[in-house]
Amino acid sequence: MCRSKQNLQPAHIKSRRYMSLRWDKWNVLCLCSKCHMYFHANPDEFIAFILQKWPMRINYLRENLDITKTWHLRDYLETEKELKELFIDETSNATRKSR
Ligand SMILES: [Zn+2]
Repeated sequence: MCRSKQNLQPAHIKSRRYMSLRWDKWNVLCLCSKCHMYFHANPDEFIAFILQKWPMRINYLRENLDITKTWHLRDYLETEKELKELFIDETSNATRKSR
């Protein structure tokens, strides 16, 4: 949100207590610790922020909130691979923009 690269933390959109979404890549953002704490204290603003940036995420998370999902090692490995690809893509975009 503030684009800080200090004290980055994974921030869940829907609480970690929803096990079906706990390790779902669509349920997590990377925020600095200050933004993370701010959004915990202001959940309505957090939802508004998500709705503005990624409106489809909210629908997806609502639909998958109460499903029973068993997480397997292959799920974590798949997510890790996807996130690494996304990171490389984001990094190369950022490099291109700064030129
Ligand atoms: Zn921040």
